[in-house]
Amino acid sequence: MNDLSFSKQKGVAAIPMILGIVAVVGLGILFFQLNSVQNAFSGAVEKYNDANTKLSLKEEEARALSEALYSEQQKNAELEDELDDVEDELDDLEKLSKIDSELLQKYSKVYFLNEHYTPASVIEIDKDLRYPEDKELSINKRVAPFLEGLLRKAKEDKVDLRVASAYRSFDEQSTLKSGYSVTYGAGSANAFSADQGYSEHQLGTTVDFTTVATKGALDGFNSTASYTWLLANAYKYGFVLSYPEGNAYYVFEPWHWRFVGKDLAEDLRKKKIGFYDMDQRDIDKYLIKFFDK
Ligand SMILES: [Zn+2]
Repeated sequence: MNDLSFSKQKGVAAIPMILGIVAVVGLGILFFQLNSVQNAFSGAVEKYNDANTKLSLKEEEARALSEALYSEQQKNAELEDELDDVEDELDDLEKLSKIDSELLQKYSKVYFLNEHYTPASVIEIDKDLRYPEDKELSINKRVAPFLEGLLRKAKEDKVDLRVASAYRSFDEQSTLKSGYSVTYGAGSANAFSADQGYSEHQLGTTVDFTTVATKGALDGFNSTASYTWLLANAYKYGFVLSYPEGNAYYVFEPWHWRFVGKDLAEDLRKKKIGFYDMDQRDIDKYLIKFFDK
């Protein structure tokens, strides 16, 4: 063997060793890399977990906030409701303060309207709605639209209906009463209509109806078709008979109708009772709706 072949042999023998070293180094590098990948991965997992925890904390905060917001909103809504109620009450009080409480007062021979009482405002009833037409008649300004509505509807239904008497001041009333006294004698005058409807006419919300056919007569009005029509329709315009047939307190006055507001008129009809049958305290509850259409 020569040197060359020897060294060749030596070289060949070194190959596995070199390969071994390379393999070890390579494995080492690989292991190192794997390790750092693993480290990076667990770092990422940690970060992810961290973020997740933070997120659920944030979510909890958001939930708590939204709950707090909801309860605040509830409280606000409750406050608003309360405020609305107070406002309604104030509106009612203001409305009520503008309605004369006398308008729904029950009157009698012992309890009547003050002689100095005058309605807030009266206006003249249209000529074609009165009898006789040249007789000046007036009525509470705010009641006038209801009376006109009633009389226009009667006209539409071809019903002969006119106003014979409406607002009467204390003085006019006294004159009328003394007129009756002269004609019928004081005893009958007291039992007569002039007495019982006295305050109601002075209020300016009450009318005596008649017909053209009877030339303005009051007696016998209950046998006219006009009276029957009133019984079926007057309540729709807020008018009621003050002294209906068979009432327990006063002489029957079929012509004498008082405005009490639509709401009360409808309820009296439903209950089948007269205005004077109802307790004053119950009547008073209707005052606020007196002029409601
Ligand atoms: Zn009357």
